[in-house]
Amino acid sequence: MAIGAFVMLASSCAQESGSDMQARADEYAVVEMNSPLMEGLDSRDRQVLDLLRMAADIMDNLFWQQTFGDRKDMDTLGDKAMKEFAMINYGPWDRLEDNSPFVPGYGEKPLGANYYPADMTTEEWEAFADPDKTSPYTVIRRDEDGNLKCVWYRDEYRKELELVCSYLEEAAAITGNDGLRNYLTKRAEAFRTDEYFESDLAWMDMKDSKIDVVIGPIENYDDKLNELKTSYECFILLKDEKRSKDLEKYVSMLPELQKMLPCPEEYKTFVPGTSSDLNVYDAIYYAGDCNCGSKTIAINLPNDDRVQALKGARRLQLHNSMNAKFDKILLPIGRLLVEPEQQKHLRSEAFFWNVTFHEVAHGLGVKETVNGKGSVDEAMGAEKTTWEEAKADILGLFMVCKLIDMEEIPLISKEDAITTFIAGLVRSVRFGAASSHGKANMMCYNYMKEQGAFSRNKDGQYHIDFGKALSAIDSWAALIIRTQATGDAGYAKEFSTKYAVVPEALKADIANVNSHGIPRDIKFDFVW
Ligand SMILES: [Zn+2]
Repeated sequence: MAIGAFVMLASSCAQESGSDMQARADEYAVVEMNSPLMEGLDSRDRQVLDLLRMAADIMDNLFWQQTFGDRKDMDTLGDKAMKEFAMINYGPWDRLEDNSPFVPGYGEKPLGANYYPADMTTEEWEAFADPDKTSPYTVIRRDEDGNLKCVWYRDEYRKELELVCSYLEEAAAITGNDGLRNYLTKRAEAFRTDEYFESDLAWMDMKDSKIDVVIGPIENYDDKLNELKTSYECFILLKDEKRSKDLEKYVSMLPELQKMLPCPEEYKTFVPGTSSDLNVYDAIYYAGDCNCGSKTIAINLPNDDRVQALKGARRLQLHNSMNAKFDKILLPIGRLLVEPEQQKHLRSEAFFWNVTFHEVAHGLGVKETVNGKGSVDEAMGAEKTTWEEAKADILGLFMVCKLIDMEEIPLISKEDAITTFIAGLVRSVRFGAASSHGKANMMCYNYMKEQGAFSRNKDGQYHIDFGKALSAIDSWAALIIRTQATGDAGYAKEFSTKYAVVPEALKADIANVNSHGIPRDIKFDFVW
């Protein structure tokens, strides 16, 4: 962020009245988190859930330490609205506004959050020779002489992790499900060793458990310095057996879908894992990284390529969270911005499919560059996450449209999918450009607009040209796949610098949406 912008934000923040701060906190619509699937649980299951919830609360506290520091500094804020907003953001920086500070006395958020010393310079980092420095499971600290050192998570957070392990092991002893027991046992081991491989394999094998859990240091989005260090989080989930069954058939179609990608044959040689599974869940608890700022509505894990190569990946669609976002945010935005004749295409079912196939799309495309630059991830460097998310968005929509043509997806039309997708892009722009997802969405928005996929009618409302939208989907997908396949990080950087920006007209749309009091995201009230 430019210095000028920071100064302006800081001074406006100091002058912000209590009611303005309350309005910002209220931009997160409260959603009561519960699920009818809870009724199918027995008393043992309930005990397991209680233990998982205690472990999750520790993940929550550890994430506070990672992303900010001492949570008490926010807990003791005198301004009630400010404190409420700080709890949503896990610190004094607004995650939906490029991490701008909103608590007086706090400057710009350090790019490396609390994973690195705040005063570490680039030169110092580059000169630091310890091979453990790039591990997702080490923090960087200073020794007594002020030199950099690596500290493993298992040591840095030892006391808290011991308690987490005891809860997981107690839950393992109670559950009647072998898969869940195996995962909880191996995960406790992982917390003690910082070796997550075996527990990730165990999680891949945990397919028939009603209760599911994702727990650990997982995503690296919070490390904006290097995209290396992982953040603690926990989801507690209940499987929706019926909807999961409905999705099963698509898993076997992945290799076929890969062959249909709109790109040259040489970019399609990767064969997606067929043991990858796709299931629907209701989420009943979020803690840590996944509970800060905007809320995840779909999960695609594990991140470890070695596990993916052996067992594929699991895609978990969080149906109740998805419905909440559609109802509270996307539908009101669409009704405001899409021209009246096309509003009938805003459909929660289309939102479900678009999001579902975003996750599928992460498992398609190119994994290794075609020109000897190694893996796409290595070659793409700092651009990798942005482009991977951009790919997943557009290939997801591409597949939904293909499957509608093939009459595999009933009840919705391509117009529904495209209209709901474009309204979704506008929704996501409100997240700002701070996240990789935000950048990916902006690149897509600007590209599609340039291709004539949509325009504004005389009343300033969006009119979608479905024919041009379909061609733009193909050409945007092709551009991304080519960039990844050739590992062209230079072009990727140049493109994202130009396209991952918010144009003036869209800023006006967002102001319009904001002035109508439409929530920006949701926050959970866990009522169980
Ligand atoms: Zn994604």
